[in-house]
Amino acid sequence: MSISETSIAYLKQLLGEKSDVLITTHYNPDGDAIGSSLALYHFLNSQGIEAKVLIPNELPSFLQWLPGVENAVLYSDQPDQGNSMLEEADLIFCMDYNGLNRVKLYTDQLRDAKATRILIDHHAQPENEFDLTFSVIEVSSTSELLHMILEEAGFSDSLTKEMAECFFVGIMTDTGSFSFACNRPETFEIAAKLIKTGIDVERIHRMVYDTYSESRMRLLGQCLGSNMKVLPEFATAYIWLSKEDLEQYNYQQGDTEGVVNYALSIQNVAVAALFTERDDRVRVSLRSKGEFSVNEFARAHFNGGGHRNAAGGDIIKPMSETLSWFESLLPAYSAEIMKSLENYK
Ligand code: 5GP
Ligand code: MN
Repeated sequence: MSISETSIAYLKQLLGEKSDVLITTHYNPDGDAIGSSLALYHFLNSQGIEAKVLIPNELPSFLQWLPGVENAVLYSDQPDQGNSMLEEADLIFCMDYNGLNRVKLYTDQLRDAKATRILIDHHAQPENEFDLTFSVIEVSSTSELLHMILEEAGFSDSLTKEMAECFFVGIMTDTGSFSFACNRPETFEIAAKLIKTGIDVERIHRMVYDTYSESRMRLLGQCLGSNMKVLPEFATAYIWLSKEDLEQYNYQQGDTEGVVNYALSIQNVAVAALFTERDDRVRVSLRSKGEFSVNEFARAHFNGGGHRNAAGGDIIKPMSETLSWFESLLPAYSAEIMKSLENYK
């Protein structure tokens, strides 16, 4: 897998020509969205390019310590400023998403922007809405891809400790601390280069994973104790969270991050889902083991998408209906899920 020289040349040309650079990422940003966006921000700054970062909505507290995050604008807090940034930009980077509607709050403004749009992403089937597309699905994360692009473009010496922290968070979170999507040796080679800048890997891990509030930990208890159903006949387990559950445990952005993985880590479970009740809809997070594609499943039934083994989406139905409807979909997939489980062992 390599990145085309033509794309690298065009990227360098654009960076030379454009002066008002905006970095955007997806709604409900995760570690890779924020990590790759901020790494790019620091890189551009180091090249004398003053870039701005626009994030759709609040980020989890376990990401709020990342260097540069204080300079990012949250669209949900400052929509007018966000709109001006989108209008004025002449170059917009789209980090860690494959379709314009993934920014949710400013999809139309992003579509109508006069700027040249550059996609840097690792999700399958990117939309055809970008002037320059870097889309590689074999990498662990957008952070890994951005690191590769900068190396290919000859900027290896520009890697700073700040950039390395951001990159590391992106790769670490998208691989579940190097436990999935990390079979390529290159992922570890990049991690090694990042560590050589002097970053404190143990501290980074602690800041991201060992900073639960008490209520977040007890919410996890509720998920695993009372709100989980296992369906051995379909090798499937799911967890649900109602609005009342979220309220009871003082839900904060990011508190359910990682919850679905617990359901997937049950032996002989090959598909896991987390259903979370939102205003008029239910959000779903899907995970799978092996070849069963939750990306396809989310596209087919939940107006969503993602990767083969990690996807999401939503549906406008009440929670109880959503759960019974989800169960009713499973028989049609049963053979495929069981095969996936068998081949995975
Ligand atoms: P999560 O379950 O952690 O929210 O998301 C898992 C993966 O699915 C991520 O890679 C994310 O980009 C993708 N994803 C989550 N929600 C959606 C959605 O509503 N639409 C699409 N296209 N992808 C999603
Ligand atoms: Mn990602």
